[in-house]
Amino acid sequence: MDRESSANSYALVTGASRGLGKAIALRLAKDGYNILVNYNSSKEKAEEVIHQIQQLGKQADLIQFDVSNRKETRDRIAHWTQSNPNAQINVLVNNAGIRKDNLMVWMKDEEWDSVIDTSLDGFYNVTKPVLEEMIKRKKGKIVNVVSLSGIKGLPGQSNYSAAKSAVIGATKALSQEVARRKITVNAVAPGFIESDMTEDLSQKEFTSMIPMRRFGTPEEVAGVVSFLISENASYITGEVITVSGGL
Ligand code: NAP
Repeated sequence: MDRESSANSYALVTGASRGLGKAIALRLAKDGYNILVNYNSSKEKAEEVIHQIQQLGKQADLIQFDVSNRKETRDRIAHWTQSNPNAQINVLVNNAGIRKDNLMVWMKDEEWDSVIDTSLDGFYNVTKPVLEEMIKRKKGKIVNVVSLSGIKGLPGQSNYSAAKSAVIGATKALSQEVARRKITVNAVAPGFIESDMTEDLSQKEFTSMIPMRRFGTPEEVAGVVSFLISENASYITGEVITVSGGL
């Protein structure tokens, strides 16, 4: 369904070179959006995503930045906006994230800092400049990819649980700040989803805990993001939807 067919309407998906971000980018292109594909280090994979979006008949632009680097993030978004004066980023999906699991007693400062810097500061670094434009236009949808780990807490993930939980708090606060400006802010909290991030986890070991007895697919998360930015979700804001097979 081509629900956003304006040639100028873009969705910015962070961490769209692989995994959930890639599936979200492709799904939103099918929904009719042009896509700004952000990546950090996987240039070739991001170029392949661009190619697949173009085959769907939509515009796709690459935008490289490390979400944890505030200056780089702001400069690249500002540069793209100035180079595309008619384009509007109407959808922002904050998906970029990393995992560096360790029990806190063994945790290295770098493991704590990098996970917080990417998921929490990354959310702030990207959202603020995009939000300023959305507020001026009184139009926008923001979806933050958090995690069940940020709701329940998981041993070995105090850094990751803290970052994701903080983004859930920010989602709820920001949604109330901008609701009158016709901007919605929601979050999706996946459980175990097949991707590079969960490659090292034994599916056999973990599926016994999951009521549906399987990991989810990136496309099953993308479908919920698609719903949250659709007209069907026009009265939903400040919510966290768990996508976890009942976990
Ligand atoms: P993934 O396969 O490891 O992919 C991570 C993506 O994030 C890549 O595109 C990567 O880009 C990008 N990225 C990482 N650090 C970045 C940075 N500093 N700046 C910009 N981009 C960065 O992970 P995934 O499983 O798709 O996870 C996507 C999101 O879902 C994350 O926020 C994760 O926490 C969340 N999540 C995943 C699961 C799961 O089971 N998979 C469960 C709950 C939540 P490059 O490759 O270009 O560096």
